[in-house]
Amino acid sequence: FSINMDQLQLDEELGRGNYGTVKKVLHKPTNVAMAMKAGRELEDAKLNAIIMELDVLHRAVAPEIVEFYGAFFIESCVYYCMEYMDAGSLDKLQGAGVPEDVLARIAACMVRGLKFLKDDLNIIHRDVKPTNVLVNKKGEIKLCDFGVSGELDKSLAKTNIGCQSYMAPERIKGESQNNLGTYTVSSDVWSLGLSMIEIGMGKYPYPPETYSNVFAQLTAIVHGDPPELPEDSYSEEARDWVAQCLRKDPERRATYKELLDHPFLVRDRTSNVDMVKWVEKALEHKAAVALAAAKAQTPQSV
Ligand code: ATP
Ligand code: MG
Repeated sequence: FSINMDQLQLDEELGRGNYGTVKKVLHKPTNVAMAMKAGRELEDAKLNAIIMELDVLHRAVAPEIVEFYGAFFIESCVYYCMEYMDAGSLDKLQGAGVPEDVLARIAACMVRGLKFLKDDLNIIHRDVKPTNVLVNKKGEIKLCDFGVSGELDKSLAKTNIGCQSYMAPERIKGESQNNLGTYTVSSDVWSLGLSMIEIGMGKYPYPPETYSNVFAQLTAIVHGDPPELPEDSYSEEARDWVAQCLRKDPERRATYKELLDHPFLVRDRTSNVDMVKWVEKALEHKAAVALAAAKAQTPQSV
């Protein structure tokens, strides 16, 4: 079905990226809650290119991919409606800790999602990071914001080297040489590994505050040793799996098939990890942190 703004009742803001906001909306005709992402303004020629390319999104149907409901345009801005994920993105759920069996399940879902995009739709994600991994209270883990087309990517404005870069070393190098042709699946595998590290450590592994500037931070990614999962909380198998994603040489990184056949994920196939319980606890922790922050901000009433 097609969607337009008149059918939507706007609810609260779900989050804000570098360029736009994502709002929860209710699609009144179907009574379905959705997440609506607004892109930035574009020229008409580009809008037409996007309309054609959006078609691919309707075919991106898999258990590990956030469902696409439709898009519409208002005054040269794209509005994009997708499945609402009621536990939000992983970056905000990792605070309470991520035990190894949960990490394995997240990894397995991400790899299956990425493999589906690549094998079935010939899409490379290009923006793998914890904010683009969404979770719901059923315990499902799904990917969003993948790079369907150059134009759509630009309209949703995601090519940026922010203060948290998940870009592979070869891409950082390519970018500085203004060479955009270097993107391959293996660059996504690096970003996947880095996301696992962030989820496992509970924080981004190249924290901006430890570097004097962005250049120093990017230099550490390109020339330093890749980060590892902490030894005290993860097994040798888990650590090896992540290490295979974070090889500096893209040719040496594991493929999706190898990652799925690795003992770390083979074990997950028969694991009965309680994801619903983990999401519940993670949300409680997130709410407690938000409450404490709000209290710290409000001046004491008399
Ligand atoms: P960037 O701008 O670098 O891509 P980002 O991924 O955080 O960063 P957005 O894609 O604009 O930025 O998303 C903003 C936030 O909105 C996300 O971090 C996530 O918490 C929330 N969000 C996005 N999509 C959904 C969704 N479908 N359901 C629930 N929450 C969502
Ligand atoms: Mg996003």
